[in-house]
Amino acid sequence: MKLAYLRKIRIVVSIIFLLSIAIVFLDITNFLPASFINYITFLQFIPSIIKFTNLFLPMSFGFIIVIILTLLFGRVYCSSICPLGTIQDFSSYTAQKNNKKKKFTFSKESFWLRYSVLGITIVSILSGSLFLINLLDPYSNSGRIFAQLFNPLVTLLNNLIAFSLEKFNIYFIYPIEIKAFYISAASFPLIFLVIVLYVSYKRGRLYCNTICPVGTLLGLISKFTIFKLRIDKTSCEGCGICARVCKAECIEKTTKEIDFSRCVACYNCLDVCPSDSINYNFISLNSSQKTSDESRRNFLSRTSMLFIGLTTTAISQIKIIPKKDSKVAIKKNSFASPPGSKTIDHFNSNCTACHLCITACPTKVLQPSIVEYGIFNIFQPFMDYKTNYCNYDCVACSEVCPTSAIQTVTSEQKKSIQIGKAIFVKENCIVETENTACGACSEHCPTKAVMMVDYKGNLKIPEVTNKYCVGCGACEHACPTKPYKAIYIDGNVTHQVAEIKPTEKLDQKIDYKEEFPF
Ligand code: SF4
Ligand code: SF4
Ligand code: SF4
Repeated sequence: MKLAYLRKIRIVVSIIFLLSIAIVFLDITNFLPASFINYITFLQFIPSIIKFTNLFLPMSFGFIIVIILTLLFGRVYCSSICPLGTIQDFSSYTAQKNNKKKKFTFSKESFWLRYSVLGITIVSILSGSLFLINLLDPYSNSGRIFAQLFNPLVTLLNNLIAFSLEKFNIYFIYPIEIKAFYISAASFPLIFLVIVLYVSYKRGRLYCNTICPVGTLLGLISKFTIFKLRIDKTSCEGCGICARVCKAECIEKTTKEIDFSRCVACYNCLDVCPSDSINYNFISLNSSQKTSDESRRNFLSRTSMLFIGLTTTAISQIKIIPKKDSKVAIKKNSFASPPGSKTIDHFNSNCTACHLCITACPTKVLQPSIVEYGIFNIFQPFMDYKTNYCNYDCVACSEVCPTSAIQTVTSEQKKSIQIGKAIFVKENCIVETENTACGACSEHCPTKAVMMVDYKGNLKIPEVTNKYCVGCGACEHACPTKPYKAIYIDGNVTHQVAEIKPTEKLDQKIDYKEEFPF
């Protein structure tokens, strides 16, 4: 039976999945609704398992569907749903386009490497560490590639177009500020991408069949697959064309066997067999925001440096420039984790560092950690108040996280989640060191946890009431002192409940009987 259409379907489906993931991670204007993002990430295997173990909710059983699909048809997750799989296919395809004589040959499976990586990964997860899965999970790696490499490029391109159109008084595309770009956080995805592209250029899906723990696990499950590709040994002429196009290198020409644990269900072989000897059969288990044009214009002129790279964080801090350096070094006992993550422990043991929340965060206060949570939690997002602060009303990260490392909270709930507390260091504050009026922290504090109180003469100095502080970091971000901040956020290891400050009523009594003065 000719089944060439299966390959075409696989190509279309894999492009749809890859494009959808790309759109989600490259949505630089945060236009996409969270529900759409949740649909797109629903079938991603590792995030779905983690979410399911946390929530047992219908929106978290995507991995069960993947297992059912694997039991029915083999590793279709690897061929179509996994974004990293499709990225590798582009590289293999380019290799074949560039070199018409390029062919794959059967190779023995790296049994020990494959199953050792899977075993060690499972043991490390069971012992509470996501370190290995964060480094190896194909979805999270793709997320980091899109978030850390392509998202900044798309933003630069957008700004270049906006800047060019602005010359013709066209403003429907507006510039997006690049809040931060950390080489350290971008280098791992870059190195990973280069290696994966090189390996797939040379050896097809070698990564999927030696290193990827998801591939190995689904390979084990696919031993029980119901519909399998099988070579009809009687009609097969032994030409080996199928083995030459098999990017999983799992068709052995001499024995006419397919190693189904490594077959990634790409169906390339179905297409090329001259004697139609490859069948796809049922095999029983037994047999086998809006801005005005004016403000956009101002923004453009302010941020023309975007075109060469980064903005600094100084934009909101240009009002007061300290004359002296601050002297008292600050030491955070803990860095804050995003609102909704409950405890840093919960966050660290559920986040796969896919960086979806980083791209969804409108203020970009979420940035990849390097050592902030310890090296074993590298790349998991932390609240980086150098970059920006957390919007008082925003819950974007909690709505998109596919693993529930950040659990969904409403905007109202979030207003009383205290992820950290502000600490004031008087010796660094320019009111004290330079006898200058400031108050940037108090001005930016959305909860009024920082108030300016009488100090020397006419000067006022900040005073923090911790029970009202939510740890949003607006004060730390706004504080102009350098190199050490005079106010900073110490993260809460377990998130607490902040009190809402009662709104002050005006004392002034109004005498309504008083006659109108004119
Ligand atoms: S809640 Fe805060 S950290 Fe999360 S997306 Fe919004 S601004 Fe960013
Ligand atoms: S917290 Fe962010 S990086 Fe971690 S799994 Fe959730 S969305 Fe991905
Ligand atoms: S004191 Fe700072 S961290 Fe606390 S709520 Fe106010 S601005 Fe946010």
